[in-house]
Amino acid sequence: MKHISKLPQVETSIFSVMSALAKQHDAINLSQGFPNFKSDQKLIDLVSKAMNSGYNQYAPMAGLLELREAISKKFELLYNTNYNPETDITVTAGATQAIYTIISAFIHADDEVLIFKPAYDCYEPAIKINGGKPIAIQLEAPDYSVNWDAVKQQISHKTKMIIINTPHNPSGTILTHNDLLKLQEITAETDIIVLSDEVYEHMIFDGLKHQSVCLFPDLKQRSFIVASFGKTFHNTGWKMGYCCAPKALMMEFQKVHQFNVFSVNSAMQKGLAEYLESPEHYLQLTGFYQEKRDYFLSLIKDSKFTFQPAQGTYFQVLNYSEITDDYDVDFAKQLTIKQGLASIPLSVFNLGNKDDKVLRFCFAKTNETLEKAAHILNRL
Ligand code: PMP
Ligand code: GLN
Repeated sequence: MKHISKLPQVETSIFSVMSALAKQHDAINLSQGFPNFKSDQKLIDLVSKAMNSGYNQYAPMAGLLELREAISKKFELLYNTNYNPETDITVTAGATQAIYTIISAFIHADDEVLIFKPAYDCYEPAIKINGGKPIAIQLEAPDYSVNWDAVKQQISHKTKMIIINTPHNPSGTILTHNDLLKLQEITAETDIIVLSDEVYEHMIFDGLKHQSVCLFPDLKQRSFIVASFGKTFHNTGWKMGYCCAPKALMMEFQKVHQFNVFSVNSAMQKGLAEYLESPEHYLQLTGFYQEKRDYFLSLIKDSKFTFQPAQGTYFQVLNYSEITDDYDVDFAKQLTIKQGLASIPLSVFNLGNKDDKVLRFCFAKTNETLEKAAHILNRL
């Protein structure tokens, strides 16, 4: 049987590769981004209660209204902005599905989509499989800051979408207020849709403030915000998330959503709706992860790795050029196989696999795991 691949260049994602290698060699896994501690028992009990009380059939296509209302309240509380729960919010099977569905709903053949490299790995394949053309703009280590004049140069009548991600995976940097103003300015009077991946909105450190697109009225009108409960509530395996956009955009989104997933897990939606009644569950996340970041960095302060502390996310990037000039993918694999510590090499997210000798380490781990990892890093 013959078939022509729609994604001939795509291989197994680096997250699956490194997690499998970690397992095979019994290595500490700071590669794929997930916590190694338990989600709050209160949330697990709420989901279990929902299952026992009958939340086991299809949820409404857009999600349980109760959960959409809770999400809408969260936007009021955090950003003082309104998303109508009836029309502007859809509950999704994680952020990945939301991203894929947004791209499928709006990208026609030959449309161009601007992305910033290093880029989270699910954007490009979704653009390509829908016939679109990713236009990649490389950001430079260690600041990964955006040159908006260069972005403006890339915009043409073919540009249909710009994807941003703040706080940023994999670099741990953030976009500033000024960045968002620039984005607002260059997209003004265009038909460009902004896909704003904000899955790490609650992990932002040192008193910095998350700059959501919804804080900028003109941007809000053209934007989708994508969020992930898995990231926020330590249960990435539940694959629960949501997205928001003004009604007209959301209507197009739901035309695709209803046929690629229809609706998502009803018991989890009920549990999450009740759990969201207490804002402290997400408000305390920044302090919790800042402590982890600081602890991890204090443990490796005398190592040969160099770094700028992550401004957000639960990832810390470390530059290893004082240790070796090995290619980062090789170094990450050797570190897993020979030293027992798995990480993610950044070159796989860069334009032309540019190698800056940087590895990403996930610090969403117990202190004991971070200590064991630091012990390995310190002896290199
Ligand atoms: N966007 C970014 C930047 C991510 O890091 C991730 C995964 N961690 C996702 C989207 C996907 O989130 P989810 O697991 O909810 O699908
Ligand atoms: N978002 C996770 C990370 O950055 C990976 C999720 C996945 O494996 N697809 O590590």
